[in-house]
Formats: sequence, C-alpha cells, structure tokens
Amino acid sequence: MTAEIISGTEIRKEILAELEVEVKEIKEKYGKPPGLVTILVGSSPASISYVTLKVKTAISLGFHEIQDDQPEDISEADLLALIEKYNNDDDIHGILVQLPLPKHIDDKKILNAINPDKDVDAFHPVNVGRLMIGGEEAIFAPCTPAGIQEMIVRSGTETSGAEVVVVGRSNIVGKPIAIMMAQKGVGANSTVTIVHTRTKDLAAHCKRADILIVAAGVPNLVKPEWIKPGSTVIDVGVNRVGMNEKTGKAILRGDVDYDEACKIAGKITPVPGGVGPMTITMLMKNTVKSARMHLSK
Ligand code: NAD
Repeated sequence: MTAEIISGTEIRKEILAELEVEVKEIKEKYGKPPGLVTILVGSSPASISYVTLKVKTAISLGFHEIQDDQPEDISEADLLALIEKYNNDDDIHGILVQLPLPKHIDDKKILNAINPDKDVDAFHPVNVGRLMIGGEEAIFAPCTPAGIQEMIVRSGTETSGAEVVVVGRSNIVGKPIAIMMAQKGVGANSTVTIVHTRTKDLAAHCKRADILIVAAGVPNLVKPEWIKPGSTVIDVGVNRVGMNEKTGKAILRGDVDYDEACKIAGKITPVPGGVGPMTITMLMKNTVKSARMHLSK
C-alpha cells in the first residue's frame, strides 16, 4: 500500500480561497475588512520570519493589518497598555502577540490581558475553558490543532467512533487536539487516548489508532510497525536534522519514519508541507470568524 498524501500546502490554498470570498462578503456587508494586529517585540530572526508570513497572508486576503513592532526593552506596563489600546480598537478583531517575549516580560500576564473575544491564537485561559466546554462556546480553537482537525476532515477520514491516539500532551498541540477530537460534533466524536513520556507501552497504543496524531518533537519516534494498516497519520513534529549544504537551509523531518510509514498508513501528512502550512491559515480563519462576530453585534 502507498499512503495518500494529505498536503497542507494544497489544503491551505483551498481554505485561503474560501477566506478570500468571506473577506469580500464582510467588506460589502459591514463596510470594513477583518482587522488583525501582530505585535512583535525585539528582533529575533525566527519571530520576524513568522510575523512576516502572518502579515503577508493577512494582506493578501485583504485584511486591515497592523504590524506593530516594539523594541526589545519595552516595559511590561507599556506592552499591557498597547494591548489595551487594541482591545478598545473597533477596527481590530484579532490581536496576536508573537512569542517568545523577552525575559523581563511575563508571557502569561500579556496573553491574559488580550480580550478573549479578540484572542485569535486561543491561548487565553477563557478560550482554553471554552474549548473544553465545546460546541457554540468554543469560539476559537488554537491554530495548530484546528489545522490538524481540518486536515483530518478534508482528507475524508471518518472520525466518529474512530480510535484517536495523540502522542504528546503540550498545551499548544497535544492536549487541545485530544479535547477537540473527543467533543461532540463534525470532525470529532472520537475515542481519544493521550500518550506521553511516562506511557508504558507507546507502541501498543499507537498500533490501535485509526488516527494517529504525533506531536512529540522527536525525529523518527514512531516506527512503521507501530502504525495500523490503512490508518491516518498526522505528523506534527518539526525537527531540524541537518543542513542542506547546497541551499544552506535546514533539513526538516517529522516524528514519524515517513518513507516506511507511507507503505503502511492509508493517509499521511508529510514534513515539511503537512501541518506546518496550516497554522497561519487557521489564524486567518479565526480572525475572519472574529470579525463576523464583532461586526454583527
Ligand atoms: P512540547 O515539547 O511542548 O511537547 C512534546 C510532548 O511530547 C510532551 O508532552 C512529551 O510528553 C511528549 N513526548 C516527548 N518525547 C516523547 C517520547 N519519547 N515518547 C512519548 N511522548 C513524548 O512540544 P509541542 O510544542 O507540542 O510540539 C511538538 C512538535 O510539534 C515539535 O516538533 C514542534 O516543533 C512541532 N510543532 C509544529 C507546529 C506546526 O507545524 N505548525 C506547531 C506546533 C508544534
């Protein structure tokens, strides 16, 4: 068997095309586009490249986009005041603070200051709680788990009653995707197991999975014999395993032994080009949802 590739690059294109239509509708109906502010503190090259991608995508969709760059030595009080300014700005529907922040600033304090109804990253404890309650309450899902669920659904994988095994229990991937897959609703209704570093027999759990979601950050952690034939494998891991001497670019691998897994799985996401492109896409989707919510009030 050769697994069908679930391409994040392709699904991203589909979703962005849908969002473009929605943005036009919003502009026509309410006279203004979705508004997103991206706040970047300092000049870490990785953060700059993430923010640049977010800004480019937002602009290409026709958002009102503000890139608000702040110096490395901004005080916590000034950053809190800046967030309050955007909380009260009716043209802004999504506030994104690029992490990590410099050491003298408490990340939690900053994230908790964002109005939960503009928290398009969905890291605010109110949104974590809403996600737990599910249904209509869950306004925003965190972007990487939302992207994973979207890939599962759009690949035509049946989730209702499926055995889902999530490797990893982080707050940004493992825990939220496990909750989301177990909720009532479309693309969910699954029976979920979370496994982690203290799990006794990782292989035995993985082997049962109709849908295996791996977010451990360990290259080649999942061996081909751990994969149930015909299952859907979502590899969230992004690991730098070397450097391409010709291009000077990092060589990236996931957490799954991809080449061998392709011979066993029914569907699989590649790394790169799998979950990676979905995260920013879902940030855009959350911002469009937020704009509708705010503008229809
Ligand atoms: P994390 O380090 O916060 O959490 C990793 C989890 O995996 C932990 O809960 C740990 O218990 C578990 N784990 C680690 N080694 C294990 C092992 N040997 N056996 C079983 N469980 C193990 O990481 P994270 O933030 O959740 O990210 C996980 C991976 O996903 C990373 O490679 C990260 O780069 C990637 N990631 C990708 C995207 C994206 O593509 N958009 C987004 C977020 C994270």
